[in-house]
Amino acid sequence: MVFANVCFTKRAVKLLFLFIASFTFLVALTGCGDQQADNVQLSGSTMGTSYNITLVVPDKIQVDEDKLRMLVDAELKQLNQTFSTYIDDSELSQLNQALVGTPFPVSRQLFDVLVLSLEIAWLSNGAFDITVGSLVDLWGFGGGSEGGEDKVPSVQAIERQLARIGFSSVELNLFSDEVTKNKAVNIDLSAIAKGYAVDRLAELLLKSGAQDFMVEIGGEIRLQGNSPRGTPWRIAIEQPENQIGAVHKALNLSNVGLATSGDYRNYFEVDGERYSHTIDPVTGRPITHKLASVTVLADSTAYADAVATAINVMGPEKGLSLAEDTGLAVYLLIKTEQGFEAKYSSAFQPYLN
Ligand code: ADP
Ligand code: MG
Repeated sequence: MVFANVCFTKRAVKLLFLFIASFTFLVALTGCGDQQADNVQLSGSTMGTSYNITLVVPDKIQVDEDKLRMLVDAELKQLNQTFSTYIDDSELSQLNQALVGTPFPVSRQLFDVLVLSLEIAWLSNGAFDITVGSLVDLWGFGGGSEGGEDKVPSVQAIERQLARIGFSSVELNLFSDEVTKNKAVNIDLSAIAKGYAVDRLAELLLKSGAQDFMVEIGGEIRLQGNSPRGTPWRIAIEQPENQIGAVHKALNLSNVGLATSGDYRNYFEVDGERYSHTIDPVTGRPITHKLASVTVLADSTAYADAVATAINVMGPEKGLSLAEDTGLAVYLLIKTEQGFEAKYSSAFQPYLN
């Protein structure tokens, strides 16, 4: 598709230099003519969900789509091999199998995500807790679960797994990138890894000289520059219903990470009661409050992703007050008798115009 009347002269020149410097999937063409933009779409499966990339390509620049796909797939494969709890020999699975009390050296990527996870655990007073892994499995949502049958675990089983929770039992040595588990916790990074992977793909694209793109993995998004229309990206906050794609509100966004956490996609029902995949680390049970969805905007998508899950656990009142106290841009949809009520923090206000 071609979009007219957009001037890319300076940008095309910059892309040319970046191409020469880094030899990526962007190829500068010779010759002059109309300055127009085209776009490239890539999509596939990763991390138990789908990914989508839209890259706006200025005229005179050609994208080697095969090369781009190869780079993206290689990055995603490596990220999966680091963070997946579904892959037995992933780096995270190895950390989970490592001996209690013994320092375990990890990669920079895993270490960085653990640092950010613990930061948000402290920020949210433990609502966000990456040691919920055993409970996530018990409720049938995790990589270590049997899957299949939807059933509510016994009180005793929940109590047993609650004893294995506690983010403060994960000790990080900032000098050696080693992790020591002080009890047999089971670490689950599913609430942050998709956002982190979005950031990594965005970095890959930026390093290659791309300036206008959208990267999305399972609803966690990074928006850079302009959309194919030459204006900021128009992104919808979904109406939290089972029907996919119903729009609650549209936002114009650029150069920001966005994540949504909700109970309306990943859950099971028993006797008319809904059991979400988000677990309250205090009760060991899926969250039960009236918060239908939490949308967070932040510089990094990893941060937005983790904060969205944290606030989803905290519920509307505590969640909104944390957002106000810490300047987080958060938009909540709360279930009411009539439908949904929207509430948002002051930092979200500028995005609503
Ligand atoms: P959502 O977009 O609904 O927040 P995510 O995939 O980001 O979904 O996070 C949910 C996943 O995070 C769950 O499937 C589980 O693996 C993990 N998880 C559940 N409860 C918590 C929690 N309290 N803290 C951190 N991670 C959690
Ligand atoms: Mg999340």
